[in-house]
Amino acid sequence: MSKPPEAKPMFDKIALIGIGLIGGSIALAARRGGFARTIVAATRSAETAATANRLKLVDHCGTDLAAACEDADLVIVCTPVGACGEAARLIAPALKPGCIVSDVGSVKQAVVTAMQPHLPAGVHFVPAHPVAGTENSGPEAAFAELFDGRWCILTPLAGSDPSAVDKLEAFWKGLGSLIERLDPADHDRILAITSHLPHLIAYTIVGTADDLAGHLNSEVLRFAAGGFRDFTRIASSDPTMWRDVFLNNREAVLEVLQRFQEDLFYLQRAIRWGEGDKLFDLFTRTREIRRALIHLNQA
Ligand code: NAP
Repeated sequence: MSKPPEAKPMFDKIALIGIGLIGGSIALAARRGGFARTIVAATRSAETAATANRLKLVDHCGTDLAAACEDADLVIVCTPVGACGEAARLIAPALKPGCIVSDVGSVKQAVVTAMQPHLPAGVHFVPAHPVAGTENSGPEAAFAELFDGRWCILTPLAGSDPSAVDKLEAFWKGLGSLIERLDPADHDRILAITSHLPHLIAYTIVGTADDLAGHLNSEVLRFAAGGFRDFTRIASSDPTMWRDVFLNNREAVLEVLQRFQEDLFYLQRAIRWGEGDKLFDLFTRTREIRRALIHLNQA
């Protein structure tokens, strides 16, 4: 009996610009799903390229960003947010008409502003953000299951070609993601409170503990129980990535930070005046939020 013809992959060639945790995980998940005949990558350093090649994350990884994009049907920029604009400028001459260009940046408006002006007409730009990650970075941190059951937010632009948006959506679904479409500004406001502020708080707490500790430093680390230990995990996230997130989502982060400071003063006052009911009420409400999250399978 003859073998049934193999289904045509969704893309002939995928090019990933940047091959760290996110780029590497996209490569592995795309390979798992058989979504491309060829997957290549390009990165800034020869060292990272060598690691990606040794781990066989892609068919080939080099350091020439434009060369990687030649003939690609899908290009995903997976660099820190602050490097997306320059990456778009470098790859622009190599993009073929009809190619879908996307990104994975944790901030959307600034990335759109930085990338869009460089992209030639006839190329479909569909920004995206997989809300999935770990505190680890680099190609060695990549794994195929990273996106399974996690949200990927697409932020199509006013002029985005609907079939390109649908195709990118199908790709992310194939990588295991749940899909939501949002306006870029709404994305940035939502992520400011759900992701950016929590990281800022973690960085602050760990820094404060470190400053405070002085001679107690080793004791703080020795007795680091649940709460503090969880913060140290978040605060070990990549410094470049997070510097770029805060600099590029400045307005939304400053706005939630203002609200957060007011709420913190409210708690400070309640503690000072022994108003246990205020503390108890808030802690009861927040416990419900945790239960709701577990119910939604996102905790
Ligand atoms: P990563 O593991 O640190 O990898 C970053 C990659 O970008 C590396 O290949 C790095 O190259 C390359 N790169 C850095 N600066 C560059 C530049 N100036 N020009 C060209 N390439 C450059 O980072 P990641 O965690 O995958 O994050 C990548 C993107 O995903 C960021 O925009 C981030 O906001 C977003 N994101 C991250 C997470 C997360 O939890 N980590 C979750 C969702 C979205 P070299 O190593 O060769 O320098």
